[in-house]
Amino acid sequence: MEFSWIKTLIIASATMMSVSCMAQDLIARQAPIDRKLRSVDSLALQRQIRAEQSAYPALSLYPNWDNRYVTMRGAIIPRSYTFDLRGFVMPIPSRKITSPFGPRWGRMHKGLDIKCNIGDTIYAAFSGKIRVVNYEGGGYGKYIVIRHYNGLETVYGHLSKQLVSPNENVRAGEPIGLGGATGHVTGSHLHFETRFLGIAINPALMFNFPMQDVVADTYTFHSTGPNRYAGTEEAESNADVVRYIVVKHGETLARVARQYKISVDKLCELNRLTPSTQLRPGQILRCS
Ligand SMILES: [Zn+2]
Repeated sequence: MEFSWIKTLIIASATMMSVSCMAQDLIARQAPIDRKLRSVDSLALQRQIRAEQSAYPALSLYPNWDNRYVTMRGAIIPRSYTFDLRGFVMPIPSRKITSPFGPRWGRMHKGLDIKCNIGDTIYAAFSGKIRVVNYEGGGYGKYIVIRHYNGLETVYGHLSKQLVSPNENVRAGEPIGLGGATGHVTGSHLHFETRFLGIAINPALMFNFPMQDVVADTYTFHSTGPNRYAGTEEAESNADVVRYIVVKHGETLARVARQYKISVDKLCELNRLTPSTQLRPGQILRCS
């Protein structure tokens, strides 16, 4: 308890210092939800956002929250989905990719290997909530999975030390572990994965490690596209009927329901909301 209080204090003072000297940079790095918290002055809305945060990020996309596995069952995969990549922080300063995403040694390599030394600090790529802190001797070694507010999950493998606990909220750029060579490796490196509903997406499509930047502000996932590993057959059959939207400023449940030709009750059922819920810009809603 003591430690987490100190950590909060450190983050709070760091935030205050940054605001005074480089406010623009800080705003650019913040998760959309943090920016929203600042911009809304309705206490009720702030309470609602906090309640959503305390459940888990991207609640309407993911069927559940478990602390055991990287993969998941029961996710309904939309035909396409666009991620907001703003606020990304490189998980490691190294620019050197030692092994790309794709087939390797007769099986699928579902992430990128990035050069690192044992003990190098590993940072959270986006703000989110720690889902898994686990050990797999024959594979990931010591690893961490974070679910982010933009709908992505990131996986960090072969760590020498994990600095976070399951269900802890983290900010983009916060240290989460130390690089290492645990699990199935030939040398120290960070194995970095980006997943959407359990499906591994090539991180190089979103992040340019040699340039230390995002490829673009957004990335659109297509369920039938290349450079991905589909872990589920169910994806194709459900792809036509599931649709997600990102709420725009001023939109209400009634307006979204009208636009997508479904009832408010159905919309509430799909998103685990009550009819009195006030929507907020940036909120992800399932509409079919
Ligand atoms: Zn790897």
